[in-house]
Amino acid sequence: MTLHRTWAAGCAVIGALSASCAGEPTAPATQEIHVSLVGKDTVSTFLNRLATPHGHVVVTRAAVDGAQESAALKEEHDASLHLVEGPLPRAALAGERARVGGFAVVAVPTGQDPHDWLGSHRFHAEAIAEDEVSVPRRALRGGGRGQQRTALDGETPDITIDAAFLEARLKELSGATPINVGGRSVTIRERGSENGRSLTRTWLKQQYQALGFTVQEHTYRSGWNQGVNVTADRPGADPSRVLILSAHYDSVNNAGADDDASGIVSSLAIAHALKDTPLNIGLRIVAFDQEEIGLVGSNAYARQLDRGGELSQVVGVLDLEMTGYDSNGDGHYHVIHCNENTSADLGAAVEAAATRAELGLVRTEACTNRSDHAAFWRYGTPAVAVSQDFFGNDGNPCYHARCDTVDRINWDYMRRLTQAVGLAAAKILTE
Ligand SMILES: [Zn+2]
Repeated sequence: MTLHRTWAAGCAVIGALSASCAGEPTAPATQEIHVSLVGKDTVSTFLNRLATPHGHVVVTRAAVDGAQESAALKEEHDASLHLVEGPLPRAALAGERARVGGFAVVAVPTGQDPHDWLGSHRFHAEAIAEDEVSVPRRALRGGGRGQQRTALDGETPDITIDAAFLEARLKELSGATPINVGGRSVTIRERGSENGRSLTRTWLKQQYQALGFTVQEHTYRSGWNQGVNVTADRPGADPSRVLILSAHYDSVNNAGADDDASGIVSSLAIAHALKDTPLNIGLRIVAFDQEEIGLVGSNAYARQLDRGGELSQVVGVLDLEMTGYDSNGDGHYHVIHCNENTSADLGAAVEAAATRAELGLVRTEACTNRSDHAAFWRYGTPAVAVSQDFFGNDGNPCYHARCDTVDRINWDYMRRLTQAVGLAAAKILTE
């Protein structure tokens, strides 16, 4: 549930351990915010919350008691404050105002793109939110929603990822081969512009409809941005539960074969492999817009589900973020959970499926908020990001560059990683 501004800045004192603001609901000219490193689930009302392996960095209107680190900042008239996740350089970033729990707080001049301002698209920058989020107590401390049942034993439905399907769809989505729209041959050259994203949505809808899924557009407006997420549903026997497989369809104005056409196509290939399997839990494929400019689409989507009371139906989110790059053939991959609620169980389900199917994959640890899974964490919904070895020694050198094209994709690796996620999804969906 979202709360609106009902506090007064004047009652929060910089440097004070706590502030009492009860009964003073006036809107100040310049609001103060507090950025604090705290233990997991110790603060349930916040503007922003980013995960660390053992805690959270929260942005709050009132000071937080007992924070391990904190900084009090004033919102600025000619700039907007952003939380920036690195890896960060030792030296201060442009406009840096504080550093808390390994995250930087940066003032980005109004009208500037945060990545342009920082001089790098390698950082993840998230604007300080305008509205507070309150995570219900029942969602805290793991499994409180009572929906998460990720059994690790028993029969797994056997599904097979179609290698030819995977390759053909990825070539279409990243402009290597043309697509057919209304009898016309067109090429998806990039997925950053309005036109490129609109064309991509047309292709996505064609694909999901061909599998018999029910397609919907989720149009949102967020600050200066407006965008459109695309969802595709196949119901399960239990209408009260749904598993989400997500990826982002936008790119940084490039072909984005790995980032994140690979994730979109992996989720599509899993839906394809499962299209005739009877499901107990509903399967929803979500293609997010505007991930690259700060998880805008996924934040809007998670917020809408929260406001509609629908988040409690979501048993988990398997986000697929770059599944196609493995240049050294070591089979390393991440399932990122940052010890958020019961997300580790989802990670274990993927790892167990990979091991059981002897896919030649090796899981390596990482914790980051830099993809759409993090939009769900802030509401206490279990979510993981499945990714290639992004934080190991085998990152894609064409990440966010023009050369992120299909010729760098390791097709067999992508098939195997997709298979692992597909098997884990099948198990959750059919139990
Ligand atoms: Zn991405």
